[in-house]
Amino acid sequence: MLMDLTQKIWHPTWIEIDLNQFRKNIQIIKKKLGKTLYCLPVKANAYGHGLIPIAKVAQEEKIDYLAVSSLSEGIKLREEGITIPILVLGPFHDEQILSLIDYDLEFVISSLYKAKQVISSNLPKLAKVHLEVDTGMHRTGAKLNTAQEIYSYLKSHSKFLLKGVFTHFACAFDKVHPSNEKQIQLFDQFLSRIDTTNLLTHIANSDAHVNFDLAKYKMVRLGLLSFGLMDKKLPPPFNQIKSFFSLKSLVSYFKAVEKDSKISYGHNYITKSLSRIVTVPIGYGDGYKRCLSQNGEVLIREKKHPIAGTICMDQLMVDIGLNDAYIKDEVVLIGQQGNLEITVQDIALKCDTIPYEIVCSFNERVVRKYP
Ligand SMILES: *Cc1c(COP(=O)(O)O)cnc(C)c1O
Repeated sequence: MLMDLTQKIWHPTWIEIDLNQFRKNIQIIKKKLGKTLYCLPVKANAYGHGLIPIAKVAQEEKIDYLAVSSLSEGIKLREEGITIPILVLGPFHDEQILSLIDYDLEFVISSLYKAKQVISSNLPKLAKVHLEVDTGMHRTGAKLNTAQEIYSYLKSHSKFLLKGVFTHFACAFDKVHPSNEKQIQLFDQFLSRIDTTNLLTHIANSDAHVNFDLAKYKMVRLGLLSFGLMDKKLPPPFNQIKSFFSLKSLVSYFKAVEKDSKISYGHNYITKSLSRIVTVPIGYGDGYKRCLSQNGEVLIREKKHPIAGTICMDQLMVDIGLNDAYIKDEVVLIGQQGNLEITVQDIALKCDTIPYEIVCSFNERVVRKYP
């Protein structure tokens, strides 16, 4: 009950997640995938959309796999009744091995050293693993010349169930980058040396899936595309996929100020005429980036207005000129109001970053609502 109160009245700034649109996105992707398995990465609180509600919808919509980055994310999913396969993508430490297996989490083997640690852990059950091959990202993954030795080791120990083999692109966002072709070649070279009969081969993230024909591999790992946050024009049917993430708040204060009034820390913003300044209870302490201070915009009463001056930790000011606004008017910082829209991509561009970072930055002070 307390939680309910918190969500409704304690902090009037919230993220609205349209789960129906999410379902539509999944259905569009699934239809196009055909027999290829669909893995949804839900790391970092499902790209800020809320781990559990997103995972529940994914399970209902018969997504084949979830991927997380850490043991703790995997445990949260299992404890909330998620039963579909979960792959923990990030590296693990030896003391996590038994929990990974206990919670029926699949995990990644990138070295012989880790494989041996698993074997010496006195396993109560099979360890379901995916072998990661490094074809050019150089983050995790075994080098090609040792991957085959690890493969043989995994196949020769009955405690391992090798479920998949995968690699990850470094430059898939750039369709013509020469690394892409090279990575595919190296991955294929490795696959040709092993028996892939019952193995899930997977290589594509969202950019790779959209940019290249990789239908010969058995699974895809589509995060950004599933969340409708790709920052390029997409071909059909992907062009029907939409973002379902909105960031909203309520006007908490307003006042009229004279021409030449200096607003907020540092007095960097100076009003050009008699103006109304509206205060909104959101700031970088919620994850709304301070780099939007000089160039951000918000929607109030179906008009776009500039953020006035430096964004504070908990509040920001908006110059609405001589327009009307009143306490408790809805403020849209991301999403649609009337015919206008501010997208995650717009904001990422202004902050010189990528959409991933924008949606991941909002913390738990911003309540997620699933209307
Ligand atoms: C996060 C992640 C993905 C998903 O990437 P998108 O660009 O969001 O589709 C795929 N593979 C790995 C290994 C990842 O870490």
